Amino acid sequence: MLKIENLSAGIDGKTILDGLSLEVPAGEVHAIMGPNGAGKSTLSYVLGGRPGYEVTGGSVDFMDQDLLDMEPHERAAAGLFLGFQYPVEIPGVSNVQFLREALNAQRKARGEEPLTGGEFLKLAKEKAGLLRLDMDMLKRSVNVGFSGGEKKRAEMVQMGILDPKFAVLDETDSGLDIDALRVVGEGINAIMRQPGKGVLLITHYQRLLEVVKPDRVSILAKGRIVKTGGPELAERLENEGYDAVMGEMA
Ligand code: ADP
Ligand code: MG
Ligand code: MG
Repeated sequence: MLKIENLSAGIDGKTILDGLSLEVPAGEVHAIMGPNGAGKSTLSYVLGGRPGYEVTGGSVDFMDQDLLDMEPHERAAAGLFLGFQYPVEIPGVSNVQFLREALNAQRKARGEEPLTGGEFLKLAKEKAGLLRLDMDMLKRSVNVGFSGGEKKRAEMVQMGILDPKFAVLDETDSGLDIDALRVVGEGINAIMRQPGKGVLLITHYQRLLEVVKPDRVSILAKGRIVKTGGPELAERLENEGYDAVMGEMA
Protein backbone atom coordinates (compact mmCIF):
# COMPACT_ATOMS: atom_id res chain seq x y z
CA MET A 1 0.00 0.00 0.00
CA LEU A 2 2.87 2.33 0.92
CA LYS A 3 6.30 1.62 -0.53
CA ILE A 4 9.17 3.93 0.36
CA GLU A 5 12.39 3.25 -1.49
CA ASN A 6 15.75 4.78 -0.67
CA LEU A 7 14.18 8.07 0.36
CA SER A 8 16.51 10.97 1.11
CA ALA A 9 15.21 14.33 2.22
CA GLY A 10 16.16 17.33 4.29
CA ILE A 11 15.64 20.94 5.09
CA ASP A 12 17.81 24.00 4.47
CA GLY A 13 20.44 21.83 2.78
CA LYS A 14 20.69 19.52 5.79
CA THR A 15 20.13 15.81 5.08
CA ILE A 16 17.73 14.24 7.59
CA LEU A 17 16.34 11.16 5.83
CA ASP A 18 19.21 9.26 4.32
CA GLY A 19 18.21 6.32 2.14
CA LEU A 20 15.11 5.21 4.03
CA SER A 21 13.23 2.16 2.74
CA LEU A 22 10.00 0.79 4.19
CA GLU A 23 6.95 -1.08 2.95
CA VAL A 24 3.54 -1.27 4.56
CA PRO A 25 1.07 -3.64 2.90
CA ALA A 26 -2.69 -3.13 3.23
CA GLY A 27 -4.10 -4.47 6.48
CA GLU A 28 -0.94 -3.82 8.51
CA VAL A 29 0.02 -1.53 11.35
CA HIS A 30 3.73 -0.78 11.19
CA ALA A 31 5.24 0.86 14.25
CA ILE A 32 8.29 3.10 13.94
CA MET A 33 10.42 3.66 17.00
CA GLY A 34 13.70 5.48 17.26
CA PRO A 35 15.84 7.86 19.27
CA ASN A 36 15.14 11.60 19.40
CA GLY A 37 16.27 13.43 16.30
CA ALA A 38 16.31 10.26 14.17
CA GLY A 39 14.01 11.78 11.55
CA LYS A 40 10.65 10.27 12.52
CA SER A 41 8.69 13.53 12.36
CA THR A 42 10.56 14.50 9.19
CA LEU A 43 9.34 11.26 7.59
CA SER A 44 5.73 12.14 8.41
CA TYR A 45 6.18 15.70 7.08
CA VAL A 46 7.73 14.47 3.84
CA LEU A 47 4.92 11.94 3.36
CA GLY A 48 2.41 14.73 3.91
CA GLY A 49 4.17 17.08 1.50
CA ARG A 50 4.93 19.81 4.00
CA PRO A 51 6.51 22.88 2.35
CA GLY A 52 10.19 23.46 3.11
CA TYR A 53 11.18 19.81 3.05
CA GLU A 54 13.25 18.89 0.02
CA VAL A 55 13.33 15.37 -1.35
CA THR A 56 16.77 14.66 -2.79
CA GLY A 57 16.38 11.01 -3.76
CA GLY A 58 14.24 7.90 -3.76
CA SER A 59 10.55 7.27 -4.34
CA VAL A 60 7.28 6.80 -2.49
CA ASP A 61 4.51 4.74 -4.03
CA PHE A 62 1.09 5.14 -2.39
CA MET A 63 -1.58 2.82 -3.77
CA ASP A 64 0.09 2.75 -7.18
CA GLN A 65 0.50 6.52 -7.34
CA ASP A 66 3.68 8.57 -7.14
CA LEU A 67 3.06 10.24 -3.78
CA LEU A 68 5.93 12.72 -4.08
CA ASP A 69 4.41 14.06 -7.30
CA MET A 70 1.11 14.94 -5.57
CA GLU A 71 0.10 18.17 -3.82
CA PRO A 72 -0.71 17.83 -0.10
CA HIS A 73 -4.47 18.16 -0.75
CA GLU A 74 -4.25 15.48 -3.46
CA ARG A 75 -2.53 13.17 -0.99
CA ALA A 76 -5.34 13.73 1.50
CA ALA A 77 -8.01 13.17 -1.14
CA ALA A 78 -6.26 9.93 -2.11
CA GLY A 79 -6.80 8.75 1.47
CA LEU A 80 -3.63 9.72 3.32
CA PHE A 81 -4.08 11.11 6.83
CA LEU A 82 -1.38 12.67 8.97
CA GLY A 83 -1.56 13.09 12.71
CA PHE A 84 0.96 15.55 14.06
CA GLN A 85 3.20 15.45 17.11
CA TYR A 86 2.35 19.12 17.69
CA PRO A 87 -1.23 19.82 16.53
CA VAL A 88 -1.86 23.38 15.32
CA GLU A 89 -4.32 25.78 16.92
CA ILE A 90 -6.71 27.72 14.67
CA PRO A 91 -8.35 30.57 16.62
CA GLY A 92 -11.74 31.62 15.27
CA VAL A 93 -12.44 28.41 13.35
CA SER A 94 -14.50 25.78 15.13
CA ASN A 95 -13.65 22.10 14.86
CA VAL A 96 -17.06 21.47 13.31
CA GLN A 97 -16.49 24.09 10.58
CA PHE A 98 -12.94 22.92 9.97
CA LEU A 99 -13.81 19.24 9.78
CA ARG A 100 -16.82 19.75 7.55
CA GLU A 101 -14.77 21.88 5.14
CA ALA A 102 -11.97 19.31 5.13
CA LEU A 103 -14.31 16.37 4.57
CA ASN A 104 -16.31 18.07 1.83
CA ALA A 105 -13.15 19.25 0.04
CA GLN A 106 -11.95 15.64 -0.04
CA ARG A 107 -15.36 14.35 -1.15
CA LYS A 108 -15.41 16.95 -3.94
CA ALA A 109 -11.94 15.91 -5.11
CA ARG A 110 -13.20 12.32 -5.29
CA GLY A 111 -16.31 13.36 -7.21
CA GLU A 112 -18.64 12.68 -4.25
CA GLU A 113 -21.53 14.85 -3.05
CA PRO A 114 -20.82 17.05 -0.01
CA LEU A 115 -22.50 16.13 3.28
CA THR A 116 -25.27 18.45 4.47
CA GLY A 117 -24.95 20.14 7.86
CA GLY A 118 -27.27 17.56 9.41
CA GLU A 119 -25.49 14.58 7.89
CA PHE A 120 -22.15 15.96 8.99
CA LEU A 121 -23.27 16.55 12.59
CA LYS A 122 -24.57 13.00 12.84
CA LEU A 123 -21.21 11.67 11.65
CA ALA A 124 -19.28 14.01 13.98
CA LYS A 125 -21.37 12.91 16.99
CA GLU A 126 -20.75 9.26 16.21
CA LYS A 127 -16.96 9.75 15.98
CA ALA A 128 -16.81 12.05 19.02
CA GLY A 129 -18.64 9.33 20.97
CA LEU A 130 -16.08 6.77 19.85
CA LEU A 131 -13.26 8.95 21.24
CA ARG A 132 -15.34 10.03 24.26
CA LEU A 133 -14.88 13.68 23.36
CA ASP A 134 -17.73 16.00 24.35
CA MET A 135 -19.48 17.55 21.32
CA ASP A 136 -19.05 20.94 23.03
CA MET A 137 -15.30 20.56 22.44
CA LEU A 138 -15.93 20.24 18.72
CA LYS A 139 -17.83 23.53 18.73
CA ARG A 140 -14.81 25.36 20.11
CA SER A 141 -11.93 26.79 18.03
CA VAL A 142 -9.58 24.13 16.70
CA ASN A 143 -7.28 23.05 19.53
CA VAL A 144 -7.36 26.47 21.27
CA GLY A 145 -7.12 25.87 25.01
CA PHE A 146 -7.29 22.09 24.55
CA SER A 147 -5.23 19.93 26.86
CA GLY A 148 -2.68 17.59 25.28
CA GLY A 149 -5.08 14.67 25.62
CA GLU A 150 -8.03 16.62 24.19
CA LYS A 151 -5.96 17.62 21.14
CA LYS A 152 -5.06 14.03 20.45
CA ARG A 153 -8.64 12.83 20.88
CA ALA A 154 -9.90 15.65 18.64
CA GLU A 155 -7.35 14.60 16.05
CA MET A 156 -8.62 11.03 16.19
CA VAL A 157 -12.20 12.33 15.78
CA GLN A 158 -10.91 14.13 12.69
CA MET A 159 -9.41 10.85 11.46
CA GLY A 160 -12.70 9.05 12.09
CA ILE A 161 -14.63 11.65 10.10
CA LEU A 162 -12.20 11.69 7.17
CA ASP A 163 -12.03 7.86 7.20
CA PRO A 164 -8.61 7.66 5.50
CA LYS A 165 -7.12 4.60 3.82
CA PHE A 166 -3.73 5.14 5.39
CA ALA A 167 -2.74 7.03 8.54
CA VAL A 168 0.69 8.28 9.57
CA LEU A 169 0.45 8.99 13.29
CA ASP A 170 3.36 10.83 14.91
CA GLU A 171 3.55 10.31 18.66
CA THR A 172 -0.21 10.23 19.04
CA ASP A 173 0.44 8.90 22.54
CA SER A 174 2.56 11.84 23.73
CA GLY A 175 1.02 13.67 26.67
CA LEU A 176 -1.74 11.12 27.23
CA ASP A 177 -2.57 9.64 30.61
CA ILE A 178 -3.28 5.90 30.85
CA ASP A 179 -7.04 6.21 30.33
CA ALA A 180 -6.75 8.62 27.38
CA LEU A 181 -4.11 6.36 25.86
CA ARG A 182 -6.53 3.45 25.91
CA VAL A 183 -9.36 5.53 24.41
CA VAL A 184 -7.09 6.85 21.65
CA GLY A 185 -5.59 3.41 20.98
CA GLU A 186 -9.03 1.81 20.76
CA GLY A 187 -10.12 4.67 18.48
CA ILE A 188 -7.21 3.93 16.15
CA ASN A 189 -8.20 0.26 16.13
CA ALA A 190 -11.87 1.02 15.42
CA ILE A 191 -11.09 3.47 12.61
CA MET A 192 -8.03 1.93 10.99
CA ARG A 193 -7.95 -1.80 11.79
CA GLN A 194 -9.98 -2.64 8.71
CA PRO A 195 -9.23 -4.59 5.54
CA GLY A 196 -7.54 -2.46 2.90
CA LYS A 197 -6.25 0.11 5.39
CA GLY A 198 -2.77 0.70 6.75
CA VAL A 199 -1.06 2.61 9.54
CA LEU A 200 2.42 3.94 10.19
CA LEU A 201 2.49 4.44 13.94
CA ILE A 202 5.40 6.52 15.26
CA THR A 203 5.83 6.10 18.99
CA HIS A 204 8.41 6.14 21.75
CA TYR A 205 6.54 3.81 24.02
CA GLN A 206 5.43 0.23 24.18
CA ARG A 207 2.25 1.27 26.05
CA LEU A 208 0.33 2.35 22.94
CA LEU A 209 1.50 -0.80 21.19
CA GLU A 210 -0.21 -2.88 23.86
CA VAL A 211 -3.52 -1.44 22.64
CA VAL A 212 -2.78 -0.98 18.93
CA LYS A 213 -0.88 -4.21 18.35
CA PRO A 214 1.56 -3.69 15.47
CA ASP A 215 2.20 -6.31 12.81
CA ARG A 216 5.74 -5.04 12.26
CA VAL A 217 8.10 -2.80 14.21
CA SER A 218 11.01 -0.86 12.71
CA ILE A 219 13.76 1.18 14.27
CA LEU A 220 14.57 4.48 12.56
CA ALA A 221 18.00 5.84 13.39
CA LYS A 222 20.09 8.48 11.65
CA GLY A 223 17.57 8.88 8.84
CA ARG A 224 17.06 5.27 7.85
CA ILE A 225 15.43 2.04 8.93
CA VAL A 226 18.11 0.02 10.67
CA LYS A 227 16.08 -2.94 11.95
CA THR A 228 12.63 -4.44 11.38
CA GLY A 229 10.96 -7.18 13.37
CA GLY A 230 7.72 -8.27 14.97
CA PRO A 231 6.02 -6.83 18.08
CA GLU A 232 8.70 -8.42 20.27
CA LEU A 233 11.18 -5.82 18.96
CA ALA A 234 9.20 -3.05 20.68
CA GLU A 235 9.29 -4.98 23.94
CA ARG A 236 13.04 -5.43 23.68
CA LEU A 237 13.55 -1.71 23.00
CA GLU A 238 11.45 -0.85 26.03
CA ASN A 239 13.37 -3.25 28.25
CA GLU A 240 16.90 -2.82 26.92
CA GLY A 241 16.97 0.61 25.21
CA TYR A 242 18.05 1.62 21.72
CA ASP A 243 21.77 1.48 22.39
CA ALA A 244 21.68 -2.16 23.47
CA VAL A 245 19.44 -3.34 20.64
CA MET A 246 21.25 -1.31 17.96
CA GLY A 247 24.69 -1.99 19.40
CA GLU A 248 24.42 -5.70 18.74
CA MET A 249 23.95 -4.92 15.04
CA ALA A 250 27.21 -3.01 14.77
P1 ADP B 1 12.40 12.86 15.53
O1 ADP B 1 10.98 13.10 15.19
O2 ADP B 1 12.85 11.45 15.21
O3 ADP B 1 12.74 13.20 16.93
P2 ADP B 1 12.91 15.01 13.64
O4 ADP B 1 12.44 14.50 12.33
O5 ADP B 1 12.04 15.95 14.37
O6 ADP B 1 13.32 13.76 14.58
O7 ADP B 1 14.34 15.71 13.45
C1 ADP B 1 15.41 15.04 12.80
C2 ADP B 1 16.63 15.94 12.76
O8 ADP B 1 16.37 17.04 11.90
C3 ADP B 1 17.02 16.54 14.10
O9 ADP B 1 18.42 16.54 14.17
C4 ADP B 1 16.46 17.93 14.03
O10 ADP B 1 17.21 18.82 14.82
C5 ADP B 1 16.60 18.26 12.56
N1 ADP B 1 15.60 19.24 12.10
C6 ADP B 1 14.26 19.10 12.20
N2 ADP B 1 13.64 20.20 11.72
C7 ADP B 1 14.62 21.03 11.31
C8 ADP B 1 14.63 22.35 10.73
N3 ADP B 1 13.49 23.00 10.47
N4 ADP B 1 15.84 22.88 10.42
C9 ADP B 1 16.99 22.23 10.67
N5 ADP B 1 17.03 21.00 11.23
C10 ADP B 1 15.88 20.41 11.55
MG1 MG C 1 11.33 14.03 18.59
MG1 MG D 1 9.34 13.70 16.23
